[in-house]
Formats: sequence, C-alpha cells, structure tokens
Amino acid sequence: MPRVEEDIKLDFKDVLFRPKRSSLKSRSEVDLKRTFTFRNSKQTYSGIPIMASNMDTVGTFEMAVVLSKHNLFTVIHKHYTLEEWKKFAANHPECLEHVAASSGSGQADFEKLTSILEAIPLIKYICLDVANGYSEHFVEFVKNVRARCPNHTIMAGNVVTGEMVEELILAGADIIKVGIGPGSVCTTRSKTGVGYPQLSAVIECADSAHGLKGHIISDGGCGCPGDVAKAFGAGADFVMLGGMFAGHDQCAGEIIEKNGEKIKLFYGMSSDTAMKKYVGGVAEYRASEGRTVEVPYKGDVENTIRDILGGLRSTCTYVGAAKLKELSRRTTFIRVTQQHNQIFS
Ligand code: 5GP
Repeated sequence: MPRVEEDIKLDFKDVLFRPKRSSLKSRSEVDLKRTFTFRNSKQTYSGIPIMASNMDTVGTFEMAVVLSKHNLFTVIHKHYTLEEWKKFAANHPECLEHVAASSGSGQADFEKLTSILEAIPLIKYICLDVANGYSEHFVEFVKNVRARCPNHTIMAGNVVTGEMVEELILAGADIIKVGIGPGSVCTTRSKTGVGYPQLSAVIECADSAHGLKGHIISDGGCGCPGDVAKAFGAGADFVMLGGMFAGHDQCAGEIIEKNGEKIKLFYGMSSDTAMKKYVGGVAEYRASEGRTVEVPYKGDVENTIRDILGGLRSTCTYVGAAKLKELSRRTTFIRVTQQHNQIFS
C-alpha cells in the first residue's frame, strides 16, 4: 500500500520571518560574507554565498566577471569549450576563485571537465549536476571524481532528502545541491509528479548535511529577494539563482524587440530549446522537463545584485542578525496564507 506522509511540507510562499528585537542600527552594519571550510576538500571559501546557476543563459563568463566583483559566485555552464575557458582564465584570473566548472555524469562531459581542470589549476570548484541525483550510477560517479580530484571542492546534486544528502557527502561531495522541481522554468512536477516543497527540503537537507560537516545549496524557486533570505533562514549555506539573474546584459542570447518591448529568452536546461541546441532535439524516450520563457530585458545585473543584497541585509536587521551567519539561528518562520497585499497586482 502506498504510504502518505501527513506532516505538511512548506514552500517559500508559505512562510514569513517573525521580526525580533535587535540592537542593529542600520542595515549597512550587516556582514553578508561567509567563510566555510569544506568537509572533504579541506579547502576554504570566503564570499557572499549567492550563486548564478549553471544554466547556459546565466552561468556565463560575463556574469562571473560582475558577480565576482561583488564577491558572489558563478557556476559556469558546461557548454564552453576548453579554448573559451583558457581565454577567460587568461583575461580574468581574479574571477577564478569565485567560479565552478560544471559537468554531467557522462564520459564526454567528464573528459572535458578534466581537461579544463588540468589546463587551469586555479579552478578550485567542480559542480556535478544531474537532474536526478538519486541514481547509484551518480553516487559512483561522485566517488570517482573525488578519487581523481582529491583537493577540489565538489558540488553535487540535485536531491531533496536527508538520506541522499548524507550518501553524496560520504561519497566525497562537499556541497549538495538541493531542489527538485522548484525552478522557474522547470516542468518536472507537472511532467512526473515528483518534487519536494523547497523550504522544507532546505530545512531537512541542511540538518543532514551540517550533521556531517557538509554544506548545501538551495537551488531553484527564488522569485524575489525575500525568498533568497528565506532559503538562508532555512539553513542553506549557498543560494543558487536562475530566473532572478535572467534577462540581463551578462546573460547569453540576443535582446529581442517584441511589440515595442525588449526581451531575452530564458529556458530550462532540459527544455526543447536547450536540447535542440546541444543534442539535436529531445530524445524519443524522454519528455522535455523545462520550458522557454521571454523575460523582460533588465539591463546590467549590478542593479539586481544591489536589490538582492539590500533585501538580505534588511532581513538580517529585522531579525537582529549582525551577520548572515547568524540568520538561520535567529529565524522563526510563521506560516501564512497570504504573502502580500494584491490590490495593485
Ligand atoms: P530558478 O532560480 O530559475 O527558480 O531555478 C534554477 C534552477 O532550476 C537551476 O539551477 C536548475 O537546478 C533548475 N533547472 C534548470 N533548467 C531546468 C530544466 O530544464 N528542468 C528542470 N527540472 N530543472 C531545471
């Protein structure tokens, strides 16, 4: 008989932060920088732990140049060639400590990743990304990469439950990507019925990871700066953004004029658009699990960064956290039935 778990799982939209008495005078006093030492690589990270997703529209070199200037991180998508990587590394060596190189679990992907890491020793982070992090094959793959790259910090995912977070950490990963189905251009939940509300996934996975001295990334589902704050409040060490970074100058793709409005295309990495671009179409045995949307052109990503960091600092002052590090300890979420007044929306 199928089992039904009765306790309610929550999304960002289901909660708000309860404000707390605070001695902070101004949001400018809030320190958003964090320092982590990773469990398996033993390497140290220092920065503002917000990252651009490894989607080919937002995980670009152009994005990395701007994000790293603000101490943010970019997971570079896996479709750049070795030559493009070499050029980027030569022109922007200062960015390399704030980027990861990505790979799927296929042989060709991994060979390309290895050649990039050999050519550019300053890259310290690897992101091993598959749609479904639950397969035994993926766990074996993580073990192999750990054996080949003992000193690199390995991100791996995606999963949404504590036991799989633990398994991937024990297999050698340092930072686990958490999120199945919350993404802005993801259709996994409607195509498969599989998923986990993101706030609860983060709370539960962070607990499992931290118990082993591992770390997690909350990946997907943030639609506004408040959601980024909620992900950190729930215990995420890093928060990864796709849609919120889409539509900017630093994103891949042309600005298109449509009915007098400027737009840019943004699409899921397993959408028809992405699969046509990279593998010549959607394979017959699988359905596309991503969609393509037109995003209003938003100009320079600097403005969006300021908006996100300003919101996050303000959250910290409302709950009395002088540092981002203290936010989850100072977090009490209240369940709500409404997020904001909709009268003008
Ligand atoms: P967003 O910040 O846009 O809500 O979510 C970004 C995340 O959505 C990505 O980092 C990735 O984990 C996920 N994602 C990207 N493309 C696809 C896709 O085509 N299908 C699914 N299921 N998830 C995707």
